[in-house]
Amino acid sequence: MKREPRPLVAGNWKMNGTMSDMAQIKALGDRMAAAAPLAVDVALCPPATILGASAGIGEALSGGLMLGAQNCHSEDSGAHTGDLSAPMLLDAGAQLVIVGHSERRADHGETDGQVAAKARAAWRAGLIAVICVGETLGERQAGQAVELVTGQLDASVPDGADADNTVIAYEPIWAIGTGKTPTVGDIAQMHSAIRARLEDRFGAAAAASMRILYGGSVKPDNAKVLLNVANVDGALVGGASLKAKDFWGIIESYT
Ligand code: PEP
Repeated sequence: MKREPRPLVAGNWKMNGTMSDMAQIKALGDRMAAAAPLAVDVALCPPATILGASAGIGEALSGGLMLGAQNCHSEDSGAHTGDLSAPMLLDAGAQLVIVGHSERRADHGETDGQVAAKARAAWRAGLIAVICVGETLGERQAGQAVELVTGQLDASVPDGADADNTVIAYEPIWAIGTGKTPTVGDIAQMHSAIRARLEDRFGAAAAASMRILYGGSVKPDNAKVLLNVANVDGALVGGASLKAKDFWGIIESYT
């Protein structure tokens, strides 16, 4: 079934992966090439240390696998020891970059304003910004999830966002890496609220074509249900993206 917008399944390896895992990336690329044409875009965000080597598997990437990074600095260069800029990530082979993942917000105190600045840096370099938003369990239980997430969206997504430069990822923090997922109804409500907020800000046509991913414990056995919810245009996947077989199981749910 052809869907609009074209879905995206993106994997986030987080702080996992060394050169010994390059075989997983090659295996994924091989599966994609064998199954082409796919009805879905596929991206993988390995750690930056193996981004360049991943991009070097040219043959495996012929199946259309996109590579991305997990974070970038808001400036293009300069005295920021240990940081990586969007132009550097582009140079290493990235086509997209995740910004504002809840682990970055929690571990590094990243604010919505900083996330927006990173998204602008990604755009300047020609990268797609995958901008993450999501509530804590306490916020959901207090009935504040929609208000919280739409507020994050307003402040984290810069003016100028469109379907070519931005993907939104709704990731309830309590669902990440826990095996728990929201109900289908809760996902539908949140994704519809996000779409409506994008529409208010960027207009109906732009909002309709922007991809809104769901992330949080997506696995091969729940992907078909979660990814069929209205306004869910794909998934951001952590743990289940580490092995090509599992990740493929999610991608395959679109066939
Ligand atoms: C994530 O970290 O973005 C994520 C969704 O992780 P997991 O799939 O492991 O819950």
